[in-house]
Amino acid sequence: MKIEIVKDDGFYMEFILKDANPAFANSWRRAMKSHVATLAVDYVDFYMNSSYLYDEILAHRIGLIPLSTNIDKFNFQDECVCNGEGCPNCQVSLRLNVEGPKVVYSGDLISDDPETKPVFENIPIVELYEGQQLMIEAVARLGFGKEHAKFQPVSMCVYRILANVVIQDGCTNCRKCIEICPKNVFGEKNGRVVVDDDFSCTMCMDCVNVCEENAIRIEETSDYVFSVESVGQMQVREIAKRALLAIKEKSQEMNKLLEEL
Ligand SMILES: [Zn+2]
Repeated sequence: MKIEIVKDDGFYMEFILKDANPAFANSWRRAMKSHVATLAVDYVDFYMNSSYLYDEILAHRIGLIPLSTNIDKFNFQDECVCNGEGCPNCQVSLRLNVEGPKVVYSGDLISDDPETKPVFENIPIVELYEGQQLMIEAVARLGFGKEHAKFQPVSMCVYRILANVVIQDGCTNCRKCIEICPKNVFGEKNGRVVVDDDFSCTMCMDCVNVCEENAIRIEETSDYVFSVESVGQMQVREIAKRALLAIKEKSQEMNKLLEEL
């Protein structure tokens, strides 16, 4: 297997996974979504909430705010020395004490840990009007995307199979495929229809259906084009690496189980 990077701006990445199979490509995709730990607010204590939003709605909104932190310094609560009760090794508190009139943003959250803070400071939480007050303590812990979507490090993680488009003998250069293809896969060279860009092919099969001579063949390759967008807690490279480690760990666990049988 090989990886070829097409586009990488840190938080959005497009790459081709070469010579792989659907089982591995899909495992990797799922691992990036569900098996890479991130920190997110898990419960909120409300000391005062006279805003127009219910406690539950506010807690839900605060839970979805992505938090950047040094993930490796935290323990999972069920593996922590505190036995899940909560301590500085496994959780962080973020506080809010604000009065209206004011729009409360994610950037207003004051964290107990200097390394832990919202990725974006401009996510609106609630608008407070004159005389309204919000005083809360939000507690964040490590978790996985398989538990709740708020722990997912990716907002998008998809792949498609790279197509190999072939124009066979019998092509009459009728140009119908050029007109119908929504991705401009076909072009014209010296009066003949040629494949210009099969990287963009989404295998919609419009060209195959429109060709009266059955001269177009679309084959699946063993290459997978991934598009991954990070929510912001870590860069896509980091997410991809951590996902591979998770797959490795799970495979080793499986191996051990099989050997014991
Ligand atoms: Zn703890």
